[in-house]
Amino acid sequence: HLSPEELKALVRTVPDFPHPGIQFRDITTLIGHHQGMAASVHHLAELADAAGAHKIAGMEARGFIFGAAVAVQLGIGFVPVRKPGKLPIHTIGIDYALEYGTDRLEMDPGAVEPGQKVVMVDDLIATGGTALASAELLRMAGAVVEQALFVIDLPDLGGAVRLRSAGIAVNALMEFE
Ligand code: IMP
Repeated sequence: HLSPEELKALVRTVPDFPHPGIQFRDITTLIGHHQGMAASVHHLAELADAAGAHKIAGMEARGFIFGAAVAVQLGIGFVPVRKPGKLPIHTIGIDYALEYGTDRLEMDPGAVEPGQKVVMVDDLIATGGTALASAELLRMAGAVVEQALFVIDLPDLGGAVRLRSAGIAVNALMEFE
């Protein structure tokens, strides 16, 4: 398997997206590389297995790519944490603050059984707002959420620290300044 350092070299950095001054870390090039995709999933699955995951939750949309693959590798179920208005059933939801405005995430309240350990997976953690809202939502559904996994951490934005103070351990395969 490719090492985390080799995986880091497969991430594309796009300057000034979506706003001037932002360096967007783009995983399209990582997942398009067959060994890059396989090794990313392998490393994340090892961490999820060590955390004793009963289920994997992935955040729409890039969390689906890695999270679903990790769930298959471990032989466990997958819970999609969705953008609003996508699920055809009664949902539970949570509104959370963004830098400008608010956003909302929704899930099927029956997607986890009370007490199940759910490990969250997303491509990237920045401020941690998305992951924190997802954890709160999964906890509303009865999940035990103690571990979040990311391909990329941007530690300068403080997300991992915020998650740890909510009782959630954070691991990422690589960091960018
Ligand atoms: P946070 O909520 O501030 O931690 O932002 C994380 C969310 O925004 C994740 O769902 C990411 O997919 C997305 N995101 C933020 N910055 C980037 C980036 O540079 N590359 C890819 N996704 C990003």
